[in-house]
Parts: sequence; structure tokens; C-alpha cells
Amino acid sequence: MSECKINNARRNFVGKTSIAAAGLSVMPGVFLHSIAQAKPDNQPVSDKNRWGMLIDTNKCTDCGECVSACNKENGITSNGPERQATDAQWIRKVKLKDKSNGHTISLPMMCQHCEKPPCVDVCPTGASFRRDDGIVLVDKHICIGCRYCMMACPYKARSFVHETITDQKVHAPRGKGTVEACTLCVHRVDRNGAKAIPACVEACSEKAMVFGDLKDPSSEISKDLRARGGKQIRADLHLNTGVRYRGI
Ligand code: SF4
Ligand code: SF4
Repeated sequence: MSECKINNARRNFVGKTSIAAAGLSVMPGVFLHSIAQAKPDNQPVSDKNRWGMLIDTNKCTDCGECVSACNKENGITSNGPERQATDAQWIRKVKLKDKSNGHTISLPMMCQHCEKPPCVDVCPTGASFRRDDGIVLVDKHICIGCRYCMMACPYKARSFVHETITDQKVHAPRGKGTVEACTLCVHRVDRNGAKAIPACVEACSEKAMVFGDLKDPSSEISKDLRARGGKQIRADLHLNTGVRYRGI
């Protein structure tokens, strides 16, 4: 069976089982819309698209607007008045220092939406999965919280939810005892397709982030990558990440 067929089968399965199980493990009124919902104009998720992001670290300051916007969009709150070590983080700022000249850059780090995701490979339940359009997600109804995926992810992109969640967003279901990560604002993608803008991209006042379809040669991200290039973090791992960086 081709990868495409496997992904479609899993997606169909997830869509059905998610709805059936919604009342058991997720707050009333919260459903896995991001997975079960159809694309714009009822188009199914397709491998004709590969959603990705390009981040220009030359433009990125240390403002953290992307982090705040992600937290607000997805209902990620802290366990205390200040950030706790156990708080979930779907996107975080990372400082990199070039030892040869001391030059420091600050970049946003999140799930890189790998084409060959190690998190999916190790997941014993099928909760971690990659959609045909390249977005890597976790089905909270199937996740058993074993955290194998967190160990397998080379980017430390996943978080475990330790606390009871009381103020969830309908479009971003979360659950105590499960693992989660950046979804590329999949609810926006499913609503708006190529016109979607993830919350972090929208919030970045420096216009350091571009979102779009890596398979569409006329998309802004494809043109930008062609014109000025972009790199994968840990390209040596050959994961073909959907998130690319410039200036690293
Ligand atoms: Fe999975 Fe980590 Fe790759 Fe995201 S960055 S797809 S969590 S291995
Ligand atoms: Fe899969 Fe959940 Fe275990 Fe991660 S924590 S490997 S998503 S079952």
C-alpha cells in the first residue's frame, strides 16, 4: 500500500473514531474538528499540497509575539502565575550561538512537520499521524501518553499535558495525559486552504515568517525559497522538514 493510501485510511479511521469517542475524553462541545472537518469547499486533504513555513532569522527579533499568539490561539495557559517547566509549548524561542564568532540568533522552534516523522514511526497506537498534506498531528483520543514520540523527536517539539485543561478552544482540543505540538494552525488551513495564515505568522510584526504550499511553484513561500533559499535544521537527519529557515 502506498504512503498516500495509508495516510488516507488512517485519516478516515481517525475522523470516525474521534467523533465516536469525543464524549469520553474531551470536554463537552470539544471535537477533533481539525481532523474530521472537510477542507474548503468540502475538498479532502490532498497530497497535492505540502504545507510549510519559512522563517527568516535575519528578521526575527526576541519579541516572542509568535509564542504569545500561538498560546492565545490554541488556549495554552500556564500552570502558575509565571511560566512553569511543565507548561506545554507548541512554539518556543531558541537562541543559537556561532562559537567561531559569537554571533547569536534567536529563532522560533516548533514541530517541523517532517515528511518522515520519527514521532509517527515510534507511536504504538497510531495517535501520531501525518496527513497527506504534510501536517503532523496527534489524535488525543488515541494517545495513551507514553511519550515515545517526545523522545523520538529531534527538535523537542512535543509537550505532555500534565494538568486538567479547563478552558479549551473548540478548534484545538487538548487533554490531560496526552501529547501535543504545533498543528500549523490546522483549523485555519482546513477553513481557508492556501489563504490560511497561522496565528504566529499573523502576529509577527517583522514579517519574518511565511506560510504556504511548498508544492505550489507560484506560492509566496516557493518563490521566496527559490529566490533566496532556506535550510532545514538538522538536514543531516533527512526528515525533509516542512519548516525551513533562512540565516542559520
Ligand atoms: Fe514529529 Fe518532531 Fe518531526 Fe514534529 S518535528 S513531525 S513532532 S519528529
Ligand atoms: Fe503516540 Fe501518544 Fe505515545 Fe506520543 S504519547 S507515542 S502520540 S501514544
